[in-house]
Amino acid sequence: MSVVVPRNLHDALKAASENPSAQMIQGGTDLMVEINFNHRKPTDIIALRRIPELRTYEISKSSTHITIGAGLPYQKMEDGEIARFVPALAQAARTVGSPQIRSAGSIGGNLGTCSPAGDALPVLSALDAEINLQSLNSSRTVSIHDFMVGVKRNSRQPGEIIVSTTMPIVSGWQGYSKVGVRNAMVISVASCCLVIDRIAGKIAVALGAVGPTIIRCRETERWLAQQTDLKSKSIMTHSLLQEFGERIAKESKPIDDHRSTAAYRRHAVAVLSKRLLQRANEK
Ligand SMILES: Cc1cc2nc3c(=O)[nH]c(=O)nc-3n(C[C@H](O)[C@H](O)[C@H](O)COP(=O)(O)OP(=O)(O)OC[C@H]3O[C@@H](n4cnc5c(N)ncnc54)[C@H](O)[C@@H]3O)c2cc1C
Repeated sequence: MSVVVPRNLHDALKAASENPSAQMIQGGTDLMVEINFNHRKPTDIIALRRIPELRTYEISKSSTHITIGAGLPYQKMEDGEIARFVPALAQAARTVGSPQIRSAGSIGGNLGTCSPAGDALPVLSALDAEINLQSLNSSRTVSIHDFMVGVKRNSRQPGEIIVSTTMPIVSGWQGYSKVGVRNAMVISVASCCLVIDRIAGKIAVALGAVGPTIIRCRETERWLAQQTDLKSKSIMTHSLLQEFGERIAKESKPIDDHRSTAAYRRHAVAVLSKRLLQRANEK
């Protein structure tokens, strides 16, 4: 097995172009589990952990967007500027594994694995984030909705490195909630991110772990915008909240598996989304 440990992005891109099938590793919190269980047997590895360019974040000059490096660990998102500008991402980051996992695991790794239960992914979906990919001689930006193509499948091409993700800084409430089989160190059984853009008068709802990939509930988003003026807080009646949750549940596509039943997952996303909407209107 060969392990290349580049110290800057250019050297990593060069290594990836010379060996496009080499396996990247960032924090290793997904990959090492797979290797330990013999689910993957990479022959060549490119370790990205020592690349400072991947471990930064940047707020645009106009403060309209934030770009987060693929290798920035969750621990750096839990509070500070990122939590202020993208609170739903901070909430999701705080739910990931344990402090040890959060100081190694990254958004790039969550995107690389592309599990429907990945906690950062519903937030990126609800914010219509863009994924920035680079190869030695080119770069491209892909919408998160086109990046995630199926269960643990994404549209990254051989030789490409996920360098960062860019998302808007939204004026309005946003939040993330998940349900698991216990309170901590748990992979989502169902999760939900809700973002209200008070300036555009729009809501975005994305669900995790209830379909082959993250689900955006576009029908319910349109329906709610017709029921109420999302540019300002308004009274949400019990029946409106109830119907909102039911509509969200109908847009989910859960399955029965070792973590839960489809029926429980459908119920969970109805409750999570309803609570998030209620909170959005209280703040
Ligand atoms: C005990 C434990 C608890 C966990 N709990 C949670 C949880 O609560 N929520 C959750 O979402 N996840 C959880 N995970 C999974 C994991 O921590 C996350 O998915 C994390 O985001 C992975 O990041 P990483 O940097 O460690 O990825 P790695 O393991 O280094 O890589 C994962 C995949 O992404 C690819 N990759 C990584 N970086 C790049 C890049 N820059 N460009 C191209 N490809 C790249 C790798 O090649 C690999 O295929 C847990 C894992 C463990 C072991």
